[in-house]
Amino acid sequence: MSDIDALNLKKLLEHAHIGVVIHRWDTSIVYANPTALRLMRLSYEQMIGIDAYDPQWSFLDEGGRKLLVEDYPVNKVKMRGDRLQNEIVGVVDSSSDHISWFLVNAYHEGEPGEESGFIVVTFNDISDTKQLFSFQDIVENTQDMVIVTEAENIEYPTGPKIVYVNKAFEKLTGYSQREILGETPRLLQGALTDQDAKTRIHAALEKHQPIYETLLNYDSDGRPYWVEMNIIPLKNKYGDITHFAAIERDISKQKFHLEQLEKRNEDLKVLKRDLEKSIEKRTSELQMAKARLEKLAFYDPLTNVPNRRYFIDHVNRLVKSSQRRHEALAFGMLDIDDFKLLNDNYGHDVGDKVLIELAQVLQALFRADDAFCRYGGEEFAFVLTIGKNSELDGFSNRLISAIRDLEVAINEQQSLNITASIGMKVCAHDADIDFEKEIKDADIALYESKNTGKDKVTIS
Ligand code: GH3
Ligand code: MG
Ligand code: MG
Repeated sequence: MSDIDALNLKKLLEHAHIGVVIHRWDTSIVYANPTALRLMRLSYEQMIGIDAYDPQWSFLDEGGRKLLVEDYPVNKVKMRGDRLQNEIVGVVDSSSDHISWFLVNAYHEGEPGEESGFIVVTFNDISDTKQLFSFQDIVENTQDMVIVTEAENIEYPTGPKIVYVNKAFEKLTGYSQREILGETPRLLQGALTDQDAKTRIHAALEKHQPIYETLLNYDSDGRPYWVEMNIIPLKNKYGDITHFAAIERDISKQKFHLEQLEKRNEDLKVLKRDLEKSIEKRTSELQMAKARLEKLAFYDPLTNVPNRRYFIDHVNRLVKSSQRRHEALAFGMLDIDDFKLLNDNYGHDVGDKVLIELAQVLQALFRADDAFCRYGGEEFAFVLTIGKNSELDGFSNRLISAIRDLEVAINEQQSLNITASIGMKVCAHDADIDFEKEIKDADIALYESKNTGKDKVTIS
């Protein structure tokens, strides 16, 4: 085994990757190792023999302020007997104004209190990691909440453990650092916190993945607030995920406005639905009114059978189709016998009832193709297509009998019967048909029936 005392310490310094400068008590430099020369960008000749007061030196404190000569590391040790530990010092290269940042240690090598011996200064270049501003300051003072938890043990109910929160967190949640460190962010969740969002967060943490969520949390007084959060996994220099950082923003106000907006939208939707409904109702009312009007235009309001207007239109169509089919037509007029007497005896209402019930009887008797209407007063008109005359006789008999058979109830005990006189005009299929004339001829035949005893059909 080699003896450690035999180790060549000077040689060791020559090889060390840390800058070492040795000053005498008067601060003049007696030794600088190669690393020191390289870091200071000076030659051995430029370094040896010069002292702390040499104008080629220019030092800065951590904040970038120029150091007074008495605050140079070597003078701090000499004048105050301080030992310098991990002090950050900027060294300005006088030829280029380039600043190198060093982590400096210095001590007095000699008897304590003795104003002799050496002052040993060692330093590393930390320019790469020295920042001109502090990221920590940003995190500390941002308006967003920042929470850092450990990445291990994320399981309910203890984990993950909070190791850092910033000022915004304290302000918004009401929990102080002291209260919350060591706790879990689950402390912030409550009854209305969305279970699915929680499950998604847990799954992302388990997989060491970043996640974005909006979540309902509760402050220390139990007041709920909405946060929008970004959780990011943090790696150490070996690439292992050791922590999660959650950056959270209180969006309660926006959420409230959004809810208000949604509610207003909902109200508007309801309003629109109501409006649509009332328009729909109005439209169907209008349609019904229109249908009623159309019916009024074509139907007799008392008896609800076609009126004269509808009849004329129907007869025109019937004339054309009968000519095409070579069928004869019979124009008919019907008038209730002694209807004035009936009105006088039983009253106008009974008269109306008779008209209504007779209209129903006649309606049932005619085929759909036949034209039929209440022509006016107690008169009805009709036009039939006929094959042979015998058919017309059969129809006349059925018509007269049906009218005679009609029993109109006057009250619960009594009913009355009526008769009618009918006149018909038959027109051959090739006849030149004139509506007014055929009706008039039928009317003449009707008066023939009236004049010859009523309750009968006259065909001309
Ligand atoms: P004729 O046998 O000669 O036809 O005698 P008539 O009494 O039936 O004939 P007239 O023309 O003298 O009388 C017709 C009556 O019909 C007079 C009128 O008051 C009545 N009348 C007309 N329209 C209506 C109605 O809508 N309702 C009621 N109740 N009566 C009506
Ligand atoms: Mg009449
Ligand atoms: Mg009459």
